[in-house]
Amino acid sequence: MQTKTLKIFSLFFIIFALALLSVSFRNGLNRRDEQQKQARILMDTYCAIQAQGSGNTLKIIGKALDRIEEIDKKFNSLNPVSPLFGFNEENSPVTDREICQLIRTALKISEKSGGAFDITVEPLVRLWGFYNKTPSVPGKGRIIECLKKTGYGHLAIKEGRLEKLNKSVRVDLGAIAKGYAVGEALKILKNAGIKSALIDLGGDIYALGKLEGKPWKVGIRNPDGKGILGMVEVSDLSLSTSGSYERFFEKDGIRYHHIFDPKTGYPARGLKSVTVICPDPVLADALSTTIFVLGREKGLEFAKKAGKAEAMVVTDKGEISFSSGFKKLFKK
Ligand code: ADP
Ligand code: MG
Repeated sequence: MQTKTLKIFSLFFIIFALALLSVSFRNGLNRRDEQQKQARILMDTYCAIQAQGSGNTLKIIGKALDRIEEIDKKFNSLNPVSPLFGFNEENSPVTDREICQLIRTALKISEKSGGAFDITVEPLVRLWGFYNKTPSVPGKGRIIECLKKTGYGHLAIKEGRLEKLNKSVRVDLGAIAKGYAVGEALKILKNAGIKSALIDLGGDIYALGKLEGKPWKVGIRNPDGKGILGMVEVSDLSLSTSGSYERFFEKDGIRYHHIFDPKTGYPARGLKSVTVICPDPVLADALSTTIFVLGREKGLEFAKKAGKAEAMVVTDKGEISFSSGFKKLFKK
């Protein structure tokens, strides 16, 4: 009698254990299959991270967004807590290591691009009124005066300190900081074991791994505002778009936008948007601005020389041109 009870008990135990195992196995699979997403307004834009992973994916996404928030404060020269605010307003040298490192990268791109990319355009952005809500066309004399304060040659990094060689120089990392933030968020996701994710920080995107075994499909916005021009299929690549539609005003039928040609002091002419694809999000961000300033021919040539970078440009007239690698990834 005792052995029979024991047998029944054992049978119940085995069935119970199997049931428990199957529930936890299913839960495990579900959790692994689930796409988690969180969004916040960061760096003056809508930022969303979507990722696939086990139970604590949401928490990991939260940490990545916190990191972007930290960069937003630290790298924003308009924010009084940023060392760049002190640099611009009080000429205090910047000793922060990650800011100096990013500025070193920016200076290299300035040199390579013959000055088309230049983080010292700040006084121009200010003069044209793009830091406040009422931009306007300044007089030619004021633009010429302003150009004396700009030029990356007025900056120097000596022994880990960013210093001014000309007291009037000011910096703005708006063309490169979003790419840096995407890269830092990516590090957090990867270190936590995430294999599949999409980080979208306004026009700066990183596609990590694949979505359900296939490359991520990312749409490229139509610069005229109606839907998308097409899409690219990407995996482990970043994508950055700079467009004249992001921040602009119109006067006498001319569109004036926020990407400046550091040589003329006027918004760069000729293009409506530039999209760059490359493995490094910092480079993608900086190059989309650079190519926007360089224009179609010089810009595409520059992408080729930059190595591992592919570009697509849309001219003012709506003509689309691609580098050969971009064309292969592009689908209508
Ligand atoms: P967005 O910030 O709209 O994504 P970009 O990455 O192209 O676009 O950055 C544009 C910002 O970069 C401007 O708002 C300005 O602060 C700064 N900027 C403008 N012209 C230049 C330039 N030639 N080189 C470097 N930075 C620039
Ligand atoms: Mg940029």
